[in-house]
Amino acid sequence: MARPWRGVIEEYRDRLPVGPDTPVVTLGEGGTPLVRSDALSDETRCDVWLKYEGANPTGSFKDRGMTVAISKALEEGSKAVVCASTGNTSASAAAYAGKAGVTCAVLVPKGKVALGKMAGTLVHGARVLEVEGNFDAALELAQDLASNFPVTLVNSVNPHRLQGQKTAAFEICDALGRAPDVHCVPVGNAGNISSQWLGYSEYLNDGVIHEPPRLFGFQAAGAAPIVEGAPVKTPQTIASAIRIGNPASWDKALAAAKESEGAILAVTDREILAAYRRIAREGMFAEPASAASVAGLLRLAGEDRLPEGSTIVCVLTGHGLKDPEWAITGAAHPPSIPADAHAVAAELGL
Ligand SMILES: *Cc1c(COP(=O)(O)O)cnc(C)c1O
Repeated sequence: MARPWRGVIEEYRDRLPVGPDTPVVTLGEGGTPLVRSDALSDETRCDVWLKYEGANPTGSFKDRGMTVAISKALEEGSKAVVCASTGNTSASAAAYAGKAGVTCAVLVPKGKVALGKMAGTLVHGARVLEVEGNFDAALELAQDLASNFPVTLVNSVNPHRLQGQKTAAFEICDALGRAPDVHCVPVGNAGNISSQWLGYSEYLNDGVIHEPPRLFGFQAAGAAPIVEGAPVKTPQTIASAIRIGNPASWDKALAAAKESEGAILAVTDREILAAYRRIAREGMFAEPASAASVAGLLRLAGEDRLPEGSTIVCVLTGHGLKDPEWAITGAAHPPSIPADAHAVAAELGL
């Protein structure tokens, strides 16, 4: 009999670092749609699926990791958590801390956080502090704070975050009945690609899948330290969630790409925006950073690097409503018409 989705900890309890005494803090995260893109499948002559992580409770995949990180923080007796964030981590941390009844402090780069993400952080009652500096500076500060004061760091350097986030790979394999041939994902701080490789590797070792996917991670061209092989001092891209110049999980991401015979590559903002508009036309509203996975897919297809008939999953990491600016910029202004059916019909050419 069908039963409601219980959140990633209960659904994958035996694969996560929780015990019978771990207090489970969940908002019902995970279980997100895996939607076939007919248009992208036709164009690439592959079977392309979009994993819509915007359907998580706070609108991004961060919730998968946060349910585990906050549950473990509570188990360990922590009364406060802190994170640095470009927006989605803070919205997620604020929501789960609110549910758990612990204090949440958030360090954000001054003036750089999208409105919807700031709203989602403030509304849950987090203490938001704007740092004079970029994300990388905010993360260093959060780490410093957590080493010297009684507060738990819940950025993706917290290993429980990666454990929770690996469940996206499980869900993809469970839905397809196998691993995809190719898995495309945006790369910012590089926790997500690392966690997904962890998930696929675990299923492979346990014989749940027989072949792993090739993992392709995509950075924005103006914020592509891993591709360039050196930290970027002032990372620049419209894709704020991946505007990161010195990724914390750099080595893990490189290992994931290498071991899976994939790669970390860069896509331009122009490619990201084109992909963003394309998937939106298919009903999938994802934020610009999320579209880097589809931009990357199209790049690989253009370079003839995808064997025909491959099964491909692109992760759409976060919801478009969080950062709606780019949906409105460049769209035609709606025409004004009288309240009359004939006028509407004439305008629509019916
Ligand atoms: C956090 C985030 C990313 C980047 O993930 P990393 O784990 O930092 O590489 C990409 N897209 C969205 C929407 C995010 O919130």
